[in-house]
Amino acid sequence: MPNSQLKFQTANMKRRILIVEDEPVNQEMLRFMLEESYELFMAGTGKEALEMFFSESDAFSLILLDLNLPDMHGLDVLRQIKADPQTSRVPVIVMTAEKNAEVESLTIGAIDFIPKPYPQPKVVLARVLRTIELSEDQDLIRSTERDTLTGLYNREYFYRYVAQFDVYHKDLPADAIVLDINHFHMINERYGKAYGDDVLRRIGEKLRDIVREDGGIVCRREADTFLVYCPHREDYAVFLENASVTLSRKGRNESRIRLRMGVYSDVDKTIDIERRFDRAKLAADTVKNSFTRTIGIYDKTLHESEIFAEQLIEDFPASIEEKRFKVFFQPKFDIRPEKPVLCSAEALVRWNHPELGMVSPGIFIPLFEKNGLVQELDEYVWRETAAQVRDWKERLGISLPVSVNVSRIDMDDPYLIEKMDGIVKENGLDYKELLLEITESAYTEDSEQIVEKVEKLRSMGFRIEMDDFGSGYSSLNMISSLPIDALKLDMQFIRNAFKERKDTRLLGIVIQLADALEAPTIAEGVETEEQLLTLRTMGCDIVQGYYFSKPLPADEFEAFLVKKKEQEEKSFKEKESKEKESEEKESEEGES
Ligand code: C2E
Ligand code: MG
Ligand code: MG
Repeated sequence: MPNSQLKFQTANMKRRILIVEDEPVNQEMLRFMLEESYELFMAGTGKEALEMFFSESDAFSLILLDLNLPDMHGLDVLRQIKADPQTSRVPVIVMTAEKNAEVESLTIGAIDFIPKPYPQPKVVLARVLRTIELSEDQDLIRSTERDTLTGLYNREYFYRYVAQFDVYHKDLPADAIVLDINHFHMINERYGKAYGDDVLRRIGEKLRDIVREDGGIVCRREADTFLVYCPHREDYAVFLENASVTLSRKGRNESRIRLRMGVYSDVDKTIDIERRFDRAKLAADTVKNSFTRTIGIYDKTLHESEIFAEQLIEDFPASIEEKRFKVFFQPKFDIRPEKPVLCSAEALVRWNHPELGMVSPGIFIPLFEKNGLVQELDEYVWRETAAQVRDWKERLGISLPVSVNVSRIDMDDPYLIEKMDGIVKENGLDYKELLLEITESAYTEDSEQIVEKVEKLRSMGFRIEMDDFGSGYSSLNMISSLPIDALKLDMQFIRNAFKERKDTRLLGIVIQLADALEAPTIAEGVETEEQLLTLRTMGCDIVQGYYFSKPLPADEFEAFLVKKKEQEEKSFKEKESKEKESEEKESEEGES
């Protein structure tokens, strides 16, 4: 393992030693012995020593501790240093003339001794050097601080070294950078894991080369996400270019691996290190689905949206408590009959925020998916929805299946199945009455585990609709084996098909695809009659969109139910009277 990374701080700097010693003569002697190889910090009292040490404990490689201090006993200083696991890793060598203090010092955690009067300078220097090396090696072994694939730091150690970096470069502006690979899971899926690993290794090497020049630090945080902390720079485009790799596979042309980069430039060093990288990640997300932009910079706009997001997170619990989240319902119509028939609805949440008014889920759902709050919110929405379906059944005598959205984060909930089951049972519903919309991207993430859960839900009697179909990057291969009862086309297909230059070919292909999977197709975002008619000709089964209605509050949505019931009663009566008529006709014919 290359040691140059571990000792990044010594490329042009010396390790730091804190010397706790009140006698000027001794101070001078130690200075004479060590100054050339180390940067020395002198503390004349125990209090001073502790203050210096705790204000930047990561910065010191060693403490040389005299036991006879004017204000306190050296052993008490030692105790305080060893009390905290974080600071206790800094080795302490005790310097004393009292032979019998040795055992006690060792028990408390000192690592070695230097007797007084001091031995030869060579001896002192050798002990100091060996202690530091040992402790660093031990650190390394204890930590497994590196990622085995790329040899870069792992997340935990990286953050620690960033803290050190800051100590050593207090006044140097620094950048936090996040890099990841566009559609890495596709690379893995298409070319295999070994190839994917190779890509990661190569990128790791490139990044290491880049920062080696200016003393930055690199880690692989997880999967294909890399973090870089380095002295502030301006040439991000060059950086990205240098980090990119071109790989060839046997018998194929070379392919360029596209990287995406988020930069939080000239970081605010008063905020948490993790938070600095969250900001860089926010910036990276702004170029997530862009083909033209590959670098996102954390700027004022992002900063404001971050503050806004924090506000929303803070307001969430009170709003749940006060039932400020409202479930709206948008009808879905079966368009196969000449006259479209209401066949279900989708429950869509809105936030009636005390200061901001109605907030759309497009704003808070992605945020709550990031921090897991979505689980709580969704459970609330499912409960409200189920209670509403029950109420309509009881009060209006009509049962309409309603679909709820299930976030991919919900799929991680180990109690998901029990929760769903409980909600249906508590409201005396049939499983068919609560449809579950799961987005396509959920399936691509950890497909095996998710498929298993979905299978279970289906075997209980739930119907599953795949939401936003066509937006993810799932392979056909995978989709054909998925447990699914309906496919909801991503709204973008309709949008794109009916732009100024109408081109419905792709839409047609997706519908055919759905057809081949033998799943009914639902189109959402249908706004015009033209769209409706085209979709019908193409074989789409169900339609949802402003053409029929926007999502409505429950009481307004009721009008659809009442109308449906009337229609059903009417057609029932018509059917009845038709049957009666034909019966009469038959009997008349029989008589004559
Ligand atoms: P989605 O599940 O794909 O829902 C469809 C979105 O399209 C809804 O946006 C709906 O209001 C909108 N829409 C429907 N018809 C039309 C139309 O004709 N034209 C246009 N322009 N838009 C139409 P909404 O309600 O803003 O929800 C956005 C997304 O937020 C939803 O997309 C869903 O992914 C998520 N969401 C909404 N409610 C919940 C919830 O309770 N839980 C979770 N996890 N996600 C939710
Ligand atoms: Mg949906
Ligand atoms: Mg959708």
